[in-house]
Amino acid sequence: MDAPYAKLEELEPSIARVLAHNPSAFTYYGTQTYLIGTCELAVIDPGPDLPEHLDALEEAIAGRTVAAIMCTHTHRDHSPAARPLAERTGAAVIGCAPLALETVGPRADASFDGDYAPDRVLEDGEKLEIDGRPVRVVATPGHTSNHLCFAYGDALFSGDHVMGWSTTVVVPPDGDMAAYMQSLDKLRQREDRAYYPAHGPPVTNPQQYVRHLLGHRMQREKQILRLVSERPRAIPQIVADAYPGLDPRLVTAAGGSVFAHLLDLERRGLVERQGDEWTTA
Ligand SMILES: [Zn+2]
Repeated sequence: MDAPYAKLEELEPSIARVLAHNPSAFTYYGTQTYLIGTCELAVIDPGPDLPEHLDALEEAIAGRTVAAIMCTHTHRDHSPAARPLAERTGAAVIGCAPLALETVGPRADASFDGDYAPDRVLEDGEKLEIDGRPVRVVATPGHTSNHLCFAYGDALFSGDHVMGWSTTVVVPPDGDMAAYMQSLDKLRQREDRAYYPAHGPPVTNPQQYVRHLLGHRMQREKQILRLVSERPRAIPQIVADAYPGLDPRLVTAAGGSVFAHLLDLERRGLVERQGDEWTTA
């Protein structure tokens, strides 16, 4: 497929997208930067700091007022373009809290953008107005501890919390499986019409999709519990058994997710560690 890099795509009235040219095993075709509003705009997830992407955004903005540049979280495929875009447009950078964290162990997802410095941090439930329509902040920690979703009318910009092409990577120490599950449950109780994720196609059946994601994680948890109850196992053995035929580029990420499940199970008193191996408590 020819991905529509650097092109402005109108998705519905007041919602448009520009795809950044940063495809990978974690970003699908790349990061989707959203523009909301018509006369006045907000930019959601400005993306990686690539000159071609910034030029495309500037062209899409076409001289209109940018009221805010909003980041869902600070992985390097989401927030680095915030500062240069703010310089080009004069807009304030608002959204998730800054978070500088060195990934512990092998890199499993995009690393953190330590240069992110918002002009204002948004809190859960906060409301602002873009082009006369409300945008509401929905805090959704789990993928990262600072992750936010943004509700605009009955559409939800879901960042990496819920993606349209793959399950979300949840890697400790910052990724937290219990928080991620709670954040999914928070979305399950909402009545959004559609999700616009940072990667992959829109989600047009949000309730059903979120229930499916919750079910998938509960199945995974059960499977991990069953494997460690048979005999003590280290994480690479659990990954080999639980993810047959996995793309080798995703083995580290899968190990991170298994670790996130194990930490959650350990906190609940269901498993314990013996050196590198895990067993039922
Ligand atoms: Zn991310």
